[in-house]
Amino acid sequence: MSAIDDLAGLLLDSNYVIAFTGAGMSTESGIPDFRSKGEGLWEKVDPELLSIRTLRADPKLFYRYYRLLDNSVQGKTPNQGHQALAELSRLGVVRAVVTQNIDGLHQAAGSPRVLEVHGGVQHCRCMRCQKEYPYAMLHEALAGDGEAVPLSPCCGAVLRPGVVLFGDMMSPDFTRAQQEAFRADFALVLGTSLSVYPAAEIPLEVGRFAIINREPTPFEAQAVLAIRGAIGENLAAVTAAVRAQRQSGHKL
Ligand code: NAD
Repeated sequence: MSAIDDLAGLLLDSNYVIAFTGAGMSTESGIPDFRSKGEGLWEKVDPELLSIRTLRADPKLFYRYYRLLDNSVQGKTPNQGHQALAELSRLGVVRAVVTQNIDGLHQAAGSPRVLEVHGGVQHCRCMRCQKEYPYAMLHEALAGDGEAVPLSPCCGAVLRPGVVLFGDMMSPDFTRAQQEAFRADFALVLGTSLSVYPAAEIPLEVGRFAIINREPTPFEAQAVLAIRGAIGENLAAVTAAVRAQRQSGHKL
């Protein structure tokens, strides 16, 4: 049996599977991750520059670098990996997708239940009164004058993205994700360096997990199975193997 068939069998033998995804899920859609060697955004930007501390102290500096992240997610479409994961949900194998990504591509691919533990690019809000606006307002302000800081129509205060920045509280979806982790007996971990906390605790809370990632990760020794390679082709193959094993009478 190949690792692909083994993973399909593990998914079918589990009672409640969740997926836990990171930036590596979307590199095949053309969105750079943070830590891939030679390509990650952190090779260009100090993470502290994208923190709530920098946003409060020096919004112009924050937005100079946030623009890179904003530009990287605009106009992108789901890839083979997002599609395969949505298919695993339609097959009733994956019950929820817990993602660290902010790009909205799991939802665009049709995954019905997505928990965004680091928020997403749906909304932005006024930093003074917390009134929410569509994210497009912030994006359009950033797309104009190269150094402009987006301001809220309500208070004329700085607008902030509805994503979780370093130093922020986690999103309300994080509590829901923890509840899913307690319920699940297996996690499918995809494209994450498992180095951003507390999000990285989710697969550990589940206890049994498999990893598909290009580079080694800190939890590889604890994984039931680890496939080193690209998510798109591997997850599409796992999905095909799930269908085949089910047709040949594997119980769900
Ligand atoms: P990370 O950059 O720390 O790690 C990504 C991992 O994915 C790496 O280990 C890399 O080897 C692997 N990888 C990259 N492309 C892959 C592919 N095609 N197939 C298999 N593996 C691949 O990302 P992280 O752990 O998610 O942490 C970064 C944080 O940055 C997250 O919290 C996330 O919110 C944010 N982020 C989000 C996006 C996005 O929304 N697309 C993009 C960049 C960063």
